[in-house]
Amino acid sequence: MTAIRGATTVNSDTPEEIKAAVKELLCAIREKNNLSSENIICIMFSSTGDIRSFYPAKAAREAGFDGCALFSSLEPPIQGALPLCIRVMVLCHGKFKAEHVYLRGAKRLRRDITSNLVVALDGPAGSGKSTAAKALAKHFNILYLDTGAMYRACALKCLNSGISPEDGKAVANMVKNIDLKIEYSEGKQVTVLDGKDVSLDIRKPEISDMASKVSANSAVREKMVQMQRKIASSMPCVLDGRDIGTNVLPDAEYKFYITASSGVRAMRRFAEEKAKGYDIDIKKVEADIIARDKRDSEREIAPLRMAEDAILVDTSDMTEQQVVEFLVNKIQEKV
Ligand code: C5P
Repeated sequence: MTAIRGATTVNSDTPEEIKAAVKELLCAIREKNNLSSENIICIMFSSTGDIRSFYPAKAAREAGFDGCALFSSLEPPIQGALPLCIRVMVLCHGKFKAEHVYLRGAKRLRRDITSNLVVALDGPAGSGKSTAAKALAKHFNILYLDTGAMYRACALKCLNSGISPEDGKAVANMVKNIDLKIEYSEGKQVTVLDGKDVSLDIRKPEISDMASKVSANSAVREKMVQMQRKIASSMPCVLDGRDIGTNVLPDAEYKFYITASSGVRAMRRFAEEKAKGYDIDIKKVEADIIARDKRDSEREIAPLRMAEDAILVDTSDMTEQQVVEFLVNKIQEKV
């Protein structure tokens, strides 16, 4: 047996709207999954409490889906849920890869489902993971935690204190008392070091290299990982980094490894840094990225690598929107 899911919305609670939306949804499910009426065992609907004027099951029967069992139910009220939404599950004979269908803006998880959603995105620099993570967090209306920013803040602290990132003892000492806070303002992460917002300062190109060196220090990793786990356990979020799926949250249900060729990654970083006004050379950007990847993946503690149960996404030939759509679909398939 295979279960196909779908959802749609209506603009208002009228029988006409409900009939049209249900018909459109079921026809799309039938078409995308190549179904005939004999394939369908039953169709179950659940709709939000604001849909009262017509049973979706009755709309299905009127639309010609009358050779199987039909059932409708009302969902309990959930704060922040998408209004005027009809969800469906179509059970079919046989085992095949279901094509789930979401129409009219219904491609959003309910708040109660996202309440324990944790998504881990790992990958090398410039792979597009932070852009994807931000978009994903926005889509599901959950928090985005940029863990790289935390290692960058440690690097900035070293720079400000005149500590060499390679001086293991001094770095370990520094991190013991580091005053680092991750705050959120209008949904955006703010990295606060010694009481000062350093969100922009940590983006300087020289900090990237230092962060990669500092992040190989065991005391730094221990402290940062502890902070990351605490944040992730307190609210639904998307985390991006190098070791989220392998080390920080090995039990995360949704793990992706985002990558792209070094040439493409260098081009992206180059464009980003140029836009910020940094005068840089593309060849140097690529060389820096390759050196950073090497250091990040060869370090002893929590090196950059793909978790065995992560999904690999090569974004070299994908647009930002395609990456986000891919991730959303994969998450939605599993929920
Ligand atoms: O992702 P971003 O470029 O901001 O990360 C800066 C550096 O921080 C990386 O090169 C890596 O060495 C380190 N890092 C890490 N583990 C993470 C996130 C970042 O070691 N989870």
